[in-house]
Amino acid sequence: MDRLQFIHHPACSLHDTGWGHPEHQGRLRAVAQAVSKALPELHDIIHPVDGAPIDPALALLVHTQRHVDHIRATVEQAQEADELGRLDVDTVVSARSWEAALAGAGCAVDAVTAVLTGQTRTAFAAIRPPGHHAESDRAMGFCLLNNVAIAAATARDRGLAERILVVDWDVHHGNGTQDIFYSEPDVYYLSMHQSPHYPGTGAASDLGEGAGLGTTRNLPMAPGLDPELYLEALLEAITEASQQFRPDLLMISAGFDAAREDPLGGFTLDAEHFSRLTSEAVRRTAASTGGRTVSVLEGGYNPPELGRNVVAHLKALAASTGSESTP
Ligand SMILES: [Zn+2]
Repeated sequence: MDRLQFIHHPACSLHDTGWGHPEHQGRLRAVAQAVSKALPELHDIIHPVDGAPIDPALALLVHTQRHVDHIRATVEQAQEADELGRLDVDTVVSARSWEAALAGAGCAVDAVTAVLTGQTRTAFAAIRPPGHHAESDRAMGFCLLNNVAIAAATARDRGLAERILVVDWDVHHGNGTQDIFYSEPDVYYLSMHQSPHYPGTGAASDLGEGAGLGTTRNLPMAPGLDPELYLEALLEAITEASQQFRPDLLMISAGFDAAREDPLGGFTLDAEHFSRLTSEAVRRTAASTGGRTVSVLEGGYNPPELGRNVVAHLKALAASTGSESTP
């Protein structure tokens, strides 16, 4: 069994938002450069894998047909006009963006499949565009398809997992993931995010509804705090969620815009904090997950810093396997 699969697809870099856009093509390039620079330390523990794009029908597990049609039509217009198309004020698409979206979601689906079928203990999907702002019927916040939601729903649809805990440490609230699973009792969504901040959702009073009451939890936090306070708050909530919910799988919406030098957020985390968050999140959920963890890239808009933090995250993911207790 692999310790860590690093899942990617070249089409993710074809989503061309323009270099003036924070979610630009250089982000994944910075991740690839940082990972290759760290290869002397990583090569024994990391197994690079090419993901496969999803069939668009799989997106319908969490999105409406109207949403899928709207993205495709906007991408087609961009292709014909040979210019960027716009899904909302800050969410743009280029001629190849639909390919990128299907490839990104596909890497997330392949990551959960690989972990839940025992090919690897942990997996990281190095993808763009990000996903956690995409609601069932709306693209926004640089996100087209909700990659984590599609992967979680696919795992449940295929009977590979019953209960999935999604921990989202992106500096922005993942309104899309919360919205999609708000009344779903078998996917627990836990987010720590800057507040007040884009997109304005994620109040501590949002707890889920109906059968899903109690499986949504938000930790809105002020910017500029001592990094230990962010770690303490999130790790305590992970312990509580894990004990209450007993997930089969931990998924991380890994947003590295919670980092100290990120231009789009005011959190203060460095590589050592992402490393500890990662190891502790895996350890604190391992009694029921057996260490099975899938991490999916969300934000992170300072490319060199993003690269450093992803490498720290990967090392911690790989190191956390094997030391945890199995259920
Ligand atoms: Zn973000």
